[in-house]
Amino acid sequence: MDSLSRRALLSVTAAGAAATVAASAGSRPAIAAAPQSGQQAPGFYRYKVGSIEITVVNDGVSRMPITEGFVENASKDAVNAALDAAFLERDFYAGPYNPIVINTGTKLALVDTGTGEQAFQASKGLNGRLPLSLAAAGIDPAAIDAVIISHYHGDHINGLLKADGSLAFPNAEILVPAAEHKFWTDDGERSRATKPRVVAGFANARRVMAGEVLKRLRTYDWGKEVIGGVTAIATPGHTPGHSSHVVSSGGKSVYVQADVTHAPFLFARHPEWHFMLDVDPVAAEATRRKVYDMLVADRMLVQGFHYPFPAVGHVEKSGAGYREVLVNWTAAI
Ligand SMILES: [Zn+2]
Repeated sequence: MDSLSRRALLSVTAAGAAATVAASAGSRPAIAAAPQSGQQAPGFYRYKVGSIEITVVNDGVSRMPITEGFVENASKDAVNAALDAAFLERDFYAGPYNPIVINTGTKLALVDTGTGEQAFQASKGLNGRLPLSLAAAGIDPAAIDAVIISHYHGDHINGLLKADGSLAFPNAEILVPAAEHKFWTDDGERSRATKPRVVAGFANARRVMAGEVLKRLRTYDWGKEVIGGVTAIATPGHTPGHSSHVVSSGGKSVYVQADVTHAPFLFARHPEWHFMLDVDPVAAEATRRKVYDMLVADRMLVQGFHYPFPAVGHVEKSGAGYREVLVNWTAAI
C-alpha cells in the first residue's frame, strides 16, 4: 500500500465510514469495514386467494445428516446425487419449515406451528423461528383464534407450546384431524409401533397434545370445512390421519399440502422414494402421486410446508417425477 492510499484509509476509518469504494478503480483497495450480520432476516410472504389473505411465516430449516435409511428404498449415494442435481450440499438434509397464517376477514388461523421455542434455543436459531416471523409480519400470537394442525409430527405441533410449556397461542382453538388424533392417542397403535421414529412420535404427540392444548382441541373430518373457506382433504400415508387443506375464495384456490412430499428437491423429483418419517410409505407414495398428478393437470397453486421459502408455486412433470416452480416475488398482493 502506498502512502497516499494509507492516508486515505486512515482518514476514512477515522471518520467512521462503513465502507467506501475507490473513486479510481484499480488504484486503491476497496474497504469493507462494516461488521457482518451473520444472521438471516425473519421471513414472511403475503399473497391473496380471492378475498383471503395468506401470510407464509417461515420457521427456519432443519439440518440433519443423511444416513443410509434416510430414504428406505434408495441409497445414500442416490440421495446425494439428487442433492447434487439441486445444487445443494451433500450429506445433509436442509429441510425448510413454512407454516402459514390464513386471514379470512373474520378468522385468523395458523396452519401448523413449526418446531417451537425450545427448538429455537436448541438449534441456536436455525429453526423455531415462527415467533420472529410472526412479529416481523405484525401478527400477534394472541390474535390467532384457530390453529389448524395437518398431522402430529413435532415440526407441525411443537410450536403450540412455549419453552416453559405454556400456550404459544393462548386464545386459539386447536383444530386437528379426527383420524390423526385417534391414531396417536390409541394405546393399541402405540404398542404395535416398531419404527424408532414412530415410537418417538407417540411420546412427543402425547407430551404436546395434553393439558391446556387438549382443553382447546376440536377434531375435524375430511371433506368438510375446517373454518370458512378452508376444506380438509384426506392425504394419509405420511401419517394415518395426515391432512391437506384447500383454501378457496372467489373462484381461486391453493392446495396446502403439508407433507404430501417433504422437500421437493428430493421427494417431488422422486415420488417413489419412501422417507424414513412416513408411517405408511406405500400409502404415502400413492397419495403423493394422486395429489401431484392432480396439481399438474389442474395447474393448481400449491403451498408446501417443506418447500423452500416462500414455499408456494406450481408443479410440473419432470422425468419420472415432478418439479416445483416457485412464485416470483412481487410487492403487489
Ligand atoms: Zn413435516
